[in-house]
Amino acid sequence: MSENLVAEIISVGTELLLGEIVDTNATFLSTRLRDLGITVYRKSTVGDNLERLVETIKNALTRSDIAILGGGLGPTDDDMTREAIAKYVGEEPYIDSKLYEELKEKFALRKRPMPANNAKQAWLIPSAVTLPNPIGTAPGWFVKTKDGKIIITLPGPPQEMTRMWIEEVEDKLPVSNKCLFHKIIHTIGLGESFLTEKIAKYTNLAVPGVGTYARGVGVDIRVAAVSNNIEEAKQIVEPVVKDICDILTGYVFGFDDDTIVSVIKKVLDEKKQSFCCIESLTGGMLASQITSCEGISSCFKGSITSYSNEIKELVGVKHETIETYGAVSKETAIEMAENAKKMLKTDWAISTTGVAGPAPLEGKRPGTAWIALVGPNVIATDFVDWPGSREMVRQRVCKTALNLIFKNI
Ligand code: ATP
Ligand code: MG
Repeated sequence: MSENLVAEIISVGTELLLGEIVDTNATFLSTRLRDLGITVYRKSTVGDNLERLVETIKNALTRSDIAILGGGLGPTDDDMTREAIAKYVGEEPYIDSKLYEELKEKFALRKRPMPANNAKQAWLIPSAVTLPNPIGTAPGWFVKTKDGKIIITLPGPPQEMTRMWIEEVEDKLPVSNKCLFHKIIHTIGLGESFLTEKIAKYTNLAVPGVGTYARGVGVDIRVAAVSNNIEEAKQIVEPVVKDICDILTGYVFGFDDDTIVSVIKKVLDEKKQSFCCIESLTGGMLASQITSCEGISSCFKGSITSYSNEIKELVGVKHETIETYGAVSKETAIEMAENAKKMLKTDWAISTTGVAGPAPLEGKRPGTAWIALVGPNVIATDFVDWPGSREMVRQRVCKTALNLIFKNI
């Protein structure tokens, strides 16, 4: 083994090539391997084709120590991962009697006869060790080749794959004698190109590696270093993280597992304050994003969807305000928030009102929206003016609303 272990991920399945499913398995494996200090050189996707699968395994193992295959362990003829590995290592698969009995039992438990095809899921080759799959029918394989390389095969269904990887594989992996430490800095309110410009002195460094990724609410910056021990790696990463945070003051909202909502929750919990929302064009999307945060009931009271003007007035927005300034206006947005704050008895309230499109509304362009935040001695507003699909516009408004809360609380 090279001192820095290298792996490749091979996702198997024609449906992946056709774009029918998203390769979430490879994403999961990448993050797990990263945390184990194993470098991923390549990811590839291969259809259900024996020759191309064998060729892909062969190419992967000329460059890497470990090839991880996902999918194609089903009972049908187009599931060929086992065949490909057997062919690559030059061994003949046989039916393992213990695996066969276990498989028969699984079918018996479900009171179903076992189709003859399924016998394939009890196959083994001499260089493979079985990876048990108590929640599915297909066991995986952990194969050691004659030249010391490793081939791992996992089932396609994500639940089975993740369980097998965590419970059955990670302990069996050779230990990389390099350690990786990484920290993710979450930012909001600054576009990726502006952000990369500001931290340009870091983005081309080899050590630590600094990468930026546009994410749900903003841009993430990942700072990572590989070293002989974790402390050394940390000492490379931490000062750069600190300097980047200084450069980006006002835009950084958290690190690693933090989300914008979890950070808002933390601040409001500390202040023992609550908030609510009242939404027009986002129609509950903002509340949905807020309530996806675990434990948010500690500070989030609820939401009103006041999509029509009638409902806006019902919660207390003045008829004259809408008539004079329009439903999509700063004035209406502020009154929406003020009334929701009163009605739901919270310390803070945030409102959204705008034109999701594609058609204009009240003579206002699609993609324009007002957001207002009302809190203890605070009235803050923001204006969005950026066309796009309805979904994009509504997402952008939610993002801006969360940013407005974050900046003001
Ligand atoms: P089965 O016994 O169900 O056929 P399998 O091991 O042969 O399992 P596949 O047929 O490749 O696996 O995939 C089964 C299902 O698992 C797919 O329909 C898909 O829903 C999911 N799946 C497969 N590969 C992936 C992947 N890379 N990412 C996310 N989901 C996947
Ligand atoms: Mg299958």
